[in-house]
Amino acid sequence: MHYRPVDLEDLIGTVVSLATWISAISATPLRRLGVAGSYIDAVGQPVFLVVLLIALIVGAGFGAVGAAANAVTAWDEFVLWVIGGTVGGVLTVVCWDGILWSLCALCGLDASVTLIAIVGLFLFSIAALFGTVVAPLLDDIDSAVAWLFSFLIKWMQSPLLTTASLVATMIVMLRGGKVDFRRGMLFIAVGSGRSALTLGAVGWTQSGCFRADGAVPDNLARHESVHSRTVAATGELGFYLTYITLGATWGLAQGGSWNNLNAAGCGNPFEKSAHTFTNDPATPRSASHCQ
Ligand SMILES: [Zn+2]
Repeated sequence: MHYRPVDLEDLIGTVVSLATWISAISATPLRRLGVAGSYIDAVGQPVFLVVLLIALIVGAGFGAVGAAANAVTAWDEFVLWVIGGTVGGVLTVVCWDGILWSLCALCGLDASVTLIAIVGLFLFSIAALFGTVVAPLLDDIDSAVAWLFSFLIKWMQSPLLTTASLVATMIVMLRGGKVDFRRGMLFIAVGSGRSALTLGAVGWTQSGCFRADGAVPDNLARHESVHSRTVAATGELGFYLTYITLGATWGLAQGGSWNNLNAAGCGNPFEKSAHTFTNDPATPRSASHCQ
């Protein structure tokens, strides 16, 4: 047998031809709708804005499927998953476009920005499909192997925050700090106190949350895991930007806090299904039943 190492240029070339094929297919319905003139360029590809419009629709769809797969019950949380998906779909495609286009340029390949955006949309869609449909099933299984696959899906949807958090994980491990792996997430002990913050697939967890045996309680892991699966469905840009803007504002308007729920179950909608696992409170209230 003769083996040849994977050539980056070959790989990118293959991805570009795949995108050309997808682009040719997506041009057909636009032609049928009679809008081809304005939305398809001279070489028969949809223009960049059409790709972003598709990303917006695809993102909203994954937001809705993700909310359903994660048993979201409050309508305001459902709406936020959909909005997070639209934001995430568009921004993720733009970011992948920038990264991949730069890679092409470095390799001396002259690829079109629109074609690369289609590649980005393809990558986001595959990751979001696994993130919405598969990750909830994997996290629910009591198996480290299942959790590892879930972790990888989440990492794909949060390359910035998960990669940065993995560096932090290494530092915590080197210092002999507590690190736990469950429900498709790493939990690292940082600082004293009793709260936790999920960044991508890593929960930055204060030491008061860890048990003496070095594990985090399963209900806390399941709470944070809901957040990591929102990331898996909507991408890190979609989740965090929506959380700190609309989610925070809506949480305050409901009489809760920007990043928490009050005793009545009102607050940041993105916290509602997560809190059913930590029972604080167990029953979230939808926005219509808050002040
Ligand atoms: Zn939370």
